[in-house]
Amino acid sequence: MRYQSTRGTAPELDFRDVTLAGLAKDGGLYVPVEWPSLSDAEIAGLAGLSYVETAVRVMAPFTAGSLDEAELRELCTQAYGRFSHDAVTPLVQLDHRHFLLELFHGPTLAFKDVALQLLGLFFERFLKGTDQHLTIVGATSGDTGSAAIDAVAGREGIDIFMLHPNKRVSDVQRRQMTTVLAPNVHNIAIEGSFDDAQAMVKAMFNDAGFASRFQVTAVNSINWARLMAQVVYYFYAAVRLGAPARQVAFSVPTGNFGDVFAGYVAAKMGLPVAKLVVATNVNDILHRALSSGDYSTGTVTPTAAPSMDIQVSSNFERLLFDLANRDGAALAEQMRGFESSKAMRLTNAQQQGAAALFASDRVEPDEMSQAMAWAASRADEILDPHTAIGLAAARRAPIAADIPIVTLATAHPAKFGDAVERATGLRPTLPGRIGDLFDREERYDILPATFDAVTAYIAERAKPR
Ligand SMILES: *Cc1c(COP(=O)(O)O)cnc(C)c1O
Repeated sequence: MRYQSTRGTAPELDFRDVTLAGLAKDGGLYVPVEWPSLSDAEIAGLAGLSYVETAVRVMAPFTAGSLDEAELRELCTQAYGRFSHDAVTPLVQLDHRHFLLELFHGPTLAFKDVALQLLGLFFERFLKGTDQHLTIVGATSGDTGSAAIDAVAGREGIDIFMLHPNKRVSDVQRRQMTTVLAPNVHNIAIEGSFDDAQAMVKAMFNDAGFASRFQVTAVNSINWARLMAQVVYYFYAAVRLGAPARQVAFSVPTGNFGDVFAGYVAAKMGLPVAKLVVATNVNDILHRALSSGDYSTGTVTPTAAPSMDIQVSSNFERLLFDLANRDGAALAEQMRGFESSKAMRLTNAQQQGAAALFASDRVEPDEMSQAMAWAASRADEILDPHTAIGLAAARRAPIAADIPIVTLATAHPAKFGDAVERATGLRPTLPGRIGDLFDREERYDILPATFDAVTAYIAERAKPR
């Protein structure tokens, strides 16, 4: 399988090089040159298979040429062996038509584990036997940092530097990062905001001197391998609800458009997806884009669902590219316009193409709380704020009554205990396997929010390429 950039000028790469590169050299994002497809018979053949076996069948076309099936199976077995539920992503029924797909049974209790556990193993596998060394640099407001650190802790050939805003992440989130004491893990608390941390990471990627000394890569969802790993659970859930004979809809709490784009890929591969509901909170750029064609940024409002508090959804570019006849030059121009004015209009083709599969909704804070209360009282399920936003959108989505709707449950409620307690009066407890988090030793350094301080710190500790 070959991969092309959404902006048309970066070289085509294979799966290995796309995984190690992250972003394309022309500023675009990598997508496969064509969508592989599974026939109805092949989809029907997934019924009853384990999660790992489903993963191998769904991902094999994407990794072809870089990994053989036996290697892929071995890495999936290792990654998903670390999940606490044997189904890896179990499906839970809420009422006659609503289901939750629980994606939070990984080591750090957020859905990002599903992709990052595998990505860490891909990195290690692709670096093995080379003298290359990878320096991962990231900024986090919470979930991505802990999932990425867990995925690469102790892995050979990799160092990870994770920046978080000092005193502005929750105690659980900080401890999930800072109690990982592997020598290749470097936690940096920045005396500034998340935006300061993010801006510094971007500046490092764009700094020619820094980028020539170190092979820096990103672990956010611009990395194709992450999206690919997320396609699997759409198949896994839909087959359990009757696909390919029945259509299934999904509601996805959305931030960077990664998780829901994986649903689009599943549909492109032949899964009968009736609708993908893009659920946003008051930071509703995606809802505005999909409902009226207006993709323009505002200021971010902090909410109880912080992983959805975004201004720009990086992966939306992948959809716009696919819906615009894969014309890289036209897309590059559209994105340049957006980057300079912070606003753009979708073309008619993009708007109509999106409307065929996507619905969208904006969920207010009180509607989120009502969804949590409903799930607690009627289905005996405790939801985290992100999942509650997905469920609120699912329950009022314009989807035919005979089609089951699966809401993706993206975080364990105990990660957001205060918000859950406010809405339901119930205090979720941390699962036993991470219950001793508050007794573990922490290690991190506090640095001023300046480019020089942070690059000097990294240069002292990272290994040149
Ligand atoms: C990252 C995250 C999301 C958003 O996912 P995207 O792929 O960025 O759209 C939603 N919920 C939780 C809990 C997350 O951690």
